[in-house]
Amino acid sequence: MFFIVGFSNRDEFIKEVNFKCTNCLNEKFELYQVANVLTFFFIPLFKFNKKALIVCKNCKSIYKVKSESLKKILDSSIVTYDDIEEIVRNNNVCPNCGYMIDKNDKFCPNCGNKL
Ligand SMILES: [Zn+2]
Ligand SMILES: [Zn+2]
Repeated sequence: MFFIVGFSNRDEFIKEVNFKCTNCLNEKFELYQVANVLTFFFIPLFKFNKKALIVCKNCKSIYKVKSESLKKILDSSIVTYDDIEEIVRNNNVCPNCGYMIDKNDKFCPNCGNKL
């Protein structure tokens, strides 16, 4: 007799929220809750290490939200800089059109905006 016990990462879309992206100035974000899930024969048993992330819809930058701010965000759908624990990923994008750019680019390859 053997058991199949595993761990998986689950992303759960919660809702759309407002936050001003420090990267591209977009204000439309999606709030996700990510949890490590202990599985038993591929059936999720329980979740732990829950954390909340917001993802910029424009440049896909990811910010980690403080757990104590989560309830307020769920109520108001508004995230402020005080609610951010850390920047998980900050993509380089053109501030004009949101196109992904390289750090060394002088001009946006998509719209020609000077960077
Ligand atoms: Zn952004
Ligand atoms: Zn551009």
